Amino acid sequence: MVRSVFMEDLDAFTYRERVADGAPVLIPVGSIEQHGPHMPLSVDVLLSKAMAGAVAEHTGSLVAAPIVYGYKSQQRSGGGNHLTGSTSLDAATVIATAKSLVLELARHGVRKIAFVNGHYENYQFLYEGVDLALGELRLAGTQDVRVMLMSYWDFVDDDAIAELYPDGFPGWDLEHGGVLETSLMLLLHPALVAMDRVADIPPAVLPTYDLLPARPEITPPSGCLSSGAAATADKGQVLLDRASAGMVTAIRSEFGM
Ligand SMILES: [Zn+2]
Repeated sequence: MVRSVFMEDLDAFTYRERVADGAPVLIPVGSIEQHGPHMPLSVDVLLSKAMAGAVAEHTGSLVAAPIVYGYKSQQRSGGGNHLTGSTSLDAATVIATAKSLVLELARHGVRKIAFVNGHYENYQFLYEGVDLALGELRLAGTQDVRVMLMSYWDFVDDDAIAELYPDGFPGWDLEHGGVLETSLMLLLHPALVAMDRVADIPPAVLPTYDLLPARPEITPPSGCLSSGAAATADKGQVLLDRASAGMVTAIRSEFGM
């Protein structure tokens, strides 16, 4: 029998046993989005999956196959969806996907579900999909499904931020392709990072509003919103440890484990 927290690795019989034992299921949610010249399009998929894997090890959870595509990249948090390479879903599709997966896991008998989000723009549409699914389950008489929504960077505490950003923290929205994601990639997937291609730029200065259609000139040419030059695998380890520990605590507390 394969020992893995990843649902994709398990046979259906082992999966059913784990679900019958009450294992929570974590759903990583990513995007296919440009992350500058130094990292692959799949960063948000790889990092949400790794975060969910680390959390699963400490909570007896399983990790569902990730939602690979995400909601449209925005100029103020991901460079914008006008950039070639970024390949996104519309909101209705993200909502429907989240809803379908909650209903499918509930059909399996899963009662504790957590989305582990790795792409800023997804969050509210996941929320809506979960809300619609729970409404449908309630009407069908199923009242005991509980779903958590987490974006992993929200679990990096102020102490870690002070340690990791001695020259000042640009804010999570401007972290696109910056120290956070580059450090985690250096730790988890170093072969996919080209540090010699990092655009060492000051944090982008963006308006406090959106205007559509996008104005390509306000996104830095690299597509990154801050520099990843100060990224290291050691910082990635701090980020992985702090964020996963925070999510473990939240899951244990909310799911009564
Ligand atoms: Zn990203």
